[in-house]
Amino acid sequence: MKNSIEQQRSPFAQYFKNIFDAITSTYKGMSITMGYVLTKKPTSIEYPEVREVLPKSARMRLYNDALNCIACNQCAMACPVDCIYITSYPRPKDLEVPKTSDGTPKRQVLVQYTIDTSLCCYCGLCTTVCPTECITHSQDYEFAQYTLGQFKYDYTSDDIIAWRDRILGQKEN
Ligand code: SF4
Ligand code: SF4
Repeated sequence: MKNSIEQQRSPFAQYFKNIFDAITSTYKGMSITMGYVLTKKPTSIEYPEVREVLPKSARMRLYNDALNCIACNQCAMACPVDCIYITSYPRPKDLEVPKTSDGTPKRQVLVQYTIDTSLCCYCGLCTTVCPTECITHSQDYEFAQYTLGQFKYDYTSDDIIAWRDRILGQKEN
């Protein structure tokens, strides 16, 4: 039906009809777009100048305060993907046993506490079972790396200190 009407129309009239259709359809499309542009609040942010503020309960990169870790291995045993590696040995009997900040005796000497973050599924089980609550989820989501090996973080190493200070600063805010 439409084709037969167009066939009856002169080429001259059809030419202007096409221009009219192009203008009206462009107007309709742009009015929908501009309606969003002018009335909706932006949902994106100017990262990294502006950073997302995550809720306190967010489960981001794990942080182990190794000074309060008693090397009990409970977190490693609870981990469903076995991505926590702990090395420790019993403290010699003739040495004084230090305590964590909550008074728990540190009978093991912690040598290494590594989490392979590339395997972690952020289930939070390790944080739940920890008797001294030294392992917690931080709110840090900015830890992209170039290789999988770089996702292994040893929380007894010195290079974790700068990162730890940044994380603790975030927690206080
Ligand atoms: S959050 Fe879950 S997967 Fe990640 S280290 Fe803890 S127990 Fe393992
Ligand atoms: S459960 Fe807590 S105290 Fe025990 S080894 Fe893991 S982080 Fe350390």
